[in-house]
Amino acid sequence: MKNFKTLNEKINSHVLKEVELNDDIRQKELLIAVMQLAEERAATLTAIIESSEDAIISKNLEGIVTSWNSSAERIFGFSSEEMVGQSILKLIPQDRLEEEPHILGRLRAGERVEHFETKRVTKYGELIDVSLTISPVKNQAGEIIGVSKIARNITPLKRAEEKSAMLAAIIESTDDAIISKDLNSIITSWNISAERIFGYTEQEMIGESILKLIPPDRLQEEPMILGQLKSGQRVDHFETQRMTKQGKLIDVSLTISPVKDKAGNLIGLSKIARDITYKKLEEQRKNDFIAIVSHELKTPLTSMRSYIQLALAKVREKQDSFCENVLARAEVQTRKMYLMINDFLNLSRLEEGKMSLNLSRFNLTELIDEIVGDARILAPAHVIAYQNCDEVMIDADREKIGQVINNLLSNAVKYSSSGTTINVGCEISAERVLVSVADQGFGISSEDQKRLFNRFYRVSNDQIKNVSGFGIGLYLVSEILRLHGGKVKVESEQGKGSVFSFALKTA
Ligand code: ADP
Repeated sequence: MKNFKTLNEKINSHVLKEVELNDDIRQKELLIAVMQLAEERAATLTAIIESSEDAIISKNLEGIVTSWNSSAERIFGFSSEEMVGQSILKLIPQDRLEEEPHILGRLRAGERVEHFETKRVTKYGELIDVSLTISPVKNQAGEIIGVSKIARNITPLKRAEEKSAMLAAIIESTDDAIISKDLNSIITSWNISAERIFGYTEQEMIGESILKLIPPDRLQEEPMILGQLKSGQRVDHFETQRMTKQGKLIDVSLTISPVKDKAGNLIGLSKIARDITYKKLEEQRKNDFIAIVSHELKTPLTSMRSYIQLALAKVREKQDSFCENVLARAEVQTRKMYLMINDFLNLSRLEEGKMSLNLSRFNLTELIDEIVGDARILAPAHVIAYQNCDEVMIDADREKIGQVINNLLSNAVKYSSSGTTINVGCEISAERVLVSVADQGFGISSEDQKRLFNRFYRVSNDQIKNVSGFGIGLYLVSEILRLHGGKVKVESEQGKGSVFSFALKTA
């Protein structure tokens, strides 16, 4: 601009002098100055055109390209040599050829065509989205002699628009409530399902605190979730309860992810809430069913076992070895059934949060003695080795600790071959007693070891596919020990065997 100004001043001074002097030499100088000015203007325009991010193309009225800048080359792939002198139709997809005469018609009618969104085709046959701004080029008489066209590549913008439209459609069509909120727990988005599940409309919730949905006794969950996300962890399938507009408590499963800005800073949270009230109800029905069936089976089974024991005592007196053998086997089977039913009963109690401990002080070695004695009868094909440890008293639920040891022992039997040895160990050290059950069985892979204590988890491999079970034994073991403030440990190697152990405080 500074140059133009100087030149303009120069020309003006010449014009004045021209009037005054009317001198030949001065006229020549004036002409040179005007030409210099025109050249500089043209150079500036060329520089602008070449540095533009947009394709700037000019063409004559026959649609023949007359100029082609470097962004046109970058966007369409054709070089200036390839395009100047060629028809612009090279860039127009077959199904859009009618656009060209239409645009020309509008220009002739004196209109500018601005931000006309369409598609063009590149040298490589790729369709791209462009926004066109087209202006007529006129001669001094005002007649249109050509057209200049600015084409902006809006493909990335269109893709982003399409992606966000698709995401918006997914968010609106999902059955889950999808809610986003800022770091102060203020809601910033609320989909249709959130409205259906919680009863509040989008207008009622945007700008409001998420705490509106949290029952008073669960308010501490919000800072806990935030803390977890700030430390980089996701919150997946967190089962809890939330409150609807009508004040009804519903069971929900929450999956919460951090929303980060480009620099990776946490700026908000997105929350997917699934209404699991129905699932919970189903689980409740299943638990009730298991509880009722187990309870109903236990009563006749207990009397059956007593009758068998009575009959066994009678045949022993009569020394009828056949009947004694048969009844002894029947008694073993009733014991197995009893243990199984006990597992089911405790599972349903656990699920309902109703498993309570019936604590008493008892001698653990005595309990292990009893269980090992029973196990030797139940699994005569295995060698069950047990080195009695010193008498040790513990404060615990005798029946449930018995269930833990029974489950570990029956697994050791189920998942090892006949004839192998199972070692039951008991070690007392510094106010603790460590109980272990070691087998020489099939072993467990490290992958399976991670999920072994999950409810209903069973390892699936050829070796154990015919071993029956429900996948609840180890879940109960770990839950019963957790209630006692303890933990079950497993060490195992495939093909070599497993050791399950747990420690309890001595009394
Ligand atoms: P179940 O025995 O009824 O399947 P559990 O919960 O007791 O259920 O055990 C879960 C799974 O762990 C079993 O299916 C089995 O694959 C594996 N498992 C448990 N104990 C042992 C063991 N001592 N040796 C090898 N695998 C075992």
